[in-house]
Amino acid sequence: MTSEAQAWGRVLVVDLETREICTEEATEEWKEKFLGGTGYAARMLLDELSPEEDPLSPKSSLAFMTGPVTGLRFPGAGRFEVSGRSPLTGLWGESSAGGFWGAELRFSGFDGVVVRGASEIPVFLVIRDGYAEIKECPELWGKDTFETEETLKEAAGKGSQVVCVGPAGENEVPIASIIHGKGHVAARAGLGALMGSKKLKAIVVRGTRKIEPRFPDLLARELESFLLRFRSKENGFIDLIHTYGTNGGMELAARMKDVPMQNWRRDDLFDLAQKVGGLELAKNYPVKPGSCFACPIACKRTIRIDSGTFRTRGQVPAPEYESAAALGPLTLLSDPEALCYANDLCNRLGLDTISAGSAIAFAMECKERGLLTGDRAASFGVADGTSPALTWGDPETVVGLVEDMAFKRGLGEILGMGVKRAAAFIGRGAEEFAIHSKGLEAPMHHPKASKGGGALAYATNPRGACHLQGSASSRYPGVSSPEEGLVYSQNQAGAISSAVMCNYVMMCIPPDSFAAIVSAATGKTWSWEDLWRVGERTWYVKRVYNLLCGLSPDEDRLPRRILDAIPGYDFERSLREYYRLRALDSEGVPDQRKLAALGIADVGQILAANKETMAKMKGRRKG
Ligand code: SF4
Repeated sequence: MTSEAQAWGRVLVVDLETREICTEEATEEWKEKFLGGTGYAARMLLDELSPEEDPLSPKSSLAFMTGPVTGLRFPGAGRFEVSGRSPLTGLWGESSAGGFWGAELRFSGFDGVVVRGASEIPVFLVIRDGYAEIKECPELWGKDTFETEETLKEAAGKGSQVVCVGPAGENEVPIASIIHGKGHVAARAGLGALMGSKKLKAIVVRGTRKIEPRFPDLLARELESFLLRFRSKENGFIDLIHTYGTNGGMELAARMKDVPMQNWRRDDLFDLAQKVGGLELAKNYPVKPGSCFACPIACKRTIRIDSGTFRTRGQVPAPEYESAAALGPLTLLSDPEALCYANDLCNRLGLDTISAGSAIAFAMECKERGLLTGDRAASFGVADGTSPALTWGDPETVVGLVEDMAFKRGLGEILGMGVKRAAAFIGRGAEEFAIHSKGLEAPMHHPKASKGGGALAYATNPRGACHLQGSASSRYPGVSSPEEGLVYSQNQAGAISSAVMCNYVMMCIPPDSFAAIVSAATGKTWSWEDLWRVGERTWYVKRVYNLLCGLSPDEDRLPRRILDAIPGYDFERSLREYYRLRALDSEGVPDQRKLAALGIADVGQILAANKETMAKMKGRRKG
């Protein structure tokens, strides 16, 4: 085993069309400005963006990135980020996953993998100790993610780690996910479809390099402080997810009216939420804890259902909170066994559970309102008295539609496009209850529970409705308004996803400790302010990426159904203030002086040089 304090920045670049493989070193300038992870990926992919091409064109690159902390023996440092142009939204797409793959990639000698072009036949990539090879695998095409992972791990040997797509990714379903370890999912933004469009079934990594910090004593001190805070249970939420998994938060969330129910129409069905929450699952089924690399929080869970229609195939990953809420209360599904089965099916077939649950709830409301009638509806398999029943809470509908979406069957093909496009297809006013921002289905936290805090975040986060990238709240240090709080927390989130740390772990790490951890990893002294600026630059780069893809200010919005549920909330005022703080003009375009002050005048030049493309793409998106 080699052991070295190697600087982060060795990126494997694979062109699946030409079959060329090479290594690129991250530039010092970009590492200084963007650190790694999604920040680095955003800057890199901005240069490669071809806005006028389809997001699934071979010209769309897909990046799997770690950060400078990845692979250190530190909690939360085993994750990886996947970035590219979202086939779901047509805009910037990113999604992260836990587990062990990120750390193993670094052990293999690489800090990121960028995939360009597309293969004509199914392939997978094997990376081992500084060596990479493209292998053909027509026999794996069509296999689910569990079988794919088992087959490839058996061939690659003990310790190897796999990311792969299932049939949904192969079929280029816009809500397809990328799966590692059967239950660690880069779910959002449909990047599984981008991977599938490249005919890239999987990436297998194995390495023997040990990742060492540049300042081991500093990292050891920070680890000790983290463990003290974790063991003291000072953060009740972290203790809850340690004890029950993230779905252990379901009851608490339902009490706070945080859980959207019946396609965001209700919030009062506590008993239903409780039935599918982690506390009840732990009482009634064999549930086991699981973890990611080097993490004592261990918020992962597996479950086994031994009998009945929805018995599982052994011990399988249990639904996390977001999955349980989207497939459960959002569709009014109260049968925990059907829910676990549907969740498992999403993992096996490779579908984003939030988007899948949202699409199913949307379809149920379409049916209830009589929008799925007549010859047009019959043409995609929906007619009175036929399957799927599309009645609220119907287990067969939920499970059946998950399969139909993955295999693009009947109504499933339309729902798999995401609720925005499905609503446009169905028409007749369906847009009103398609709950998304920028085309990404909203996550399972009702902004009214945070007195509107989540609403502005959902509306302005670069990948669309996302709860992981900040909240409009005055609770952050040094801020005097919720809008300032959103800018603060979005920049903080950008720093975390550039370092590639787990958001839960970060709840136990104060800003200065975060800076110390990154300093220990890189051997360069970072302050919290430095990292925050990384996050700030990152937000603007993603904004410019989106503008080039045709984003207009009309898309920094949320459906009325969400906004009207927040008493006394003036979204438009809040958005105007946010635009002012972000130095955006009325078209949502950042001031060149702001970009220059952040040291990214080059990004401003890209913006200035692409005005015609922006206008053209804006028209195309609106059309
Ligand atoms: S807190 Fe949970 S998701 Fe985060 S690294 Fe630990 S086990 Fe993984």
